[in-house]
Parts: sequence; C-alpha cells; structure tokens
Amino acid sequence: MDDAIFDRRYFGFCLQCTFCHDSCCQHGVDVALAERDRILSHADALEPIVGSPRDGWFVDRVAEDVDFPGGLATRTAVVDGGCVFLRRGARGCALHAFAIDRGVDYHELKPMVSALFPVTFGEGTLLCSEEMLDGSLICAGEGPTAYEMARSELAWYFGPELIAELDDRRQSRASST
Ligand code: SF4
Repeated sequence: MDDAIFDRRYFGFCLQCTFCHDSCCQHGVDVALAERDRILSHADALEPIVGSPRDGWFVDRVAEDVDFPGGLATRTAVVDGGCVFLRRGARGCALHAFAIDRGVDYHELKPMVSALFPVTFGEGTLLCSEEMLDGSLICAGEGPTAYEMARSELAWYFGPELIAELDDRRQSRASST
C-alpha cells in the first residue's frame, strides 16, 4: 500500500459539499466487465433515468487489467462533461440512487473504483487517487483522510483481515511520529 492513504485529506462528505458539482465524476470511471454487465442487466429500468441509450454507456475499448476481477476492464462514457451515470439536475450517481430506490445494495451496481474513491488500486497496490496527489481534486487538503472515508468500503470489498492490517499500519505510523 501507499501510506499516502493515511495522510492525504479531503472534504470527505461529498453530498454535503456545495461547490464541487460532483467534479470527481467528470472523467468517468474504469469498470470490470462483470460490473459493466451487472449494470447492463438493469438497462431497461435504468435507461429512462440515465436519459441515454445503453449502447452509449461504456467505451468500446476493453483492456487487460489484472487488478480488476476477471482481469478485463472498460470505462464509463463521458457525456456533456461528466460520467454518463452522473445525475443531471441532481447530485450524485444515478447507479447509487437507483440501487437505494430499489432496496438493492449499491455495491451491486456502483463501480468499485467509484465506491472506493479517493482510495484506488493499481499494480497490486492500494493508492491515493491521482487527483488527490496531483492537486486536481477540488476538495483536497483538509478533512478526514482518504483511508478514514474509504475504510468501510475497503471492508466490504476485501474483508476484515485487510482492515485489521491497515489499521495496524495506521497505528504504527501514528506511534512513530
Ligand atoms: S459511476 Fe457514478 S460515482 Fe462513478 S464516476 Fe460515474 S457518476 Fe460518478
């Protein structure tokens, strides 16, 4: 892991923010093919909510990526300056809102990279997202750490053993400073 996840801070409580306009969703997001297919399995119900046909929701390119379940990934399309699943005229992610509305765990539909943000992964390592490191994340700077905000999501995806390990690492770093 990159220890930056314990140090880098940001606003954190995204839907309480009044100024970012969901800018972290402007570039779309990488998704495993299995995630893409789970989203498309709800396409009949999602199309009127997303407001565009399903064949434009993902880019055509599929790339090998061993960090994703199944080893293959694609990406959500960007439409009018934002992820195709970004709600227009409202805050947040249409996939997340749709899942809550249907009483479905949002992890079933929302991409893992989106749920973990601003913690991410690459080449077998947990990392801070690039936007947080290069300063382009508009709310980076103060607030809870990336790890504090992503901890429950990391627990959901990777289980309590990883959280125990990460908590130990955080504690040992705090003790040594
Ligand atoms: S899938 Fe949802 S949370 Fe992820 S980038 Fe798109 S709109 Fe944002």
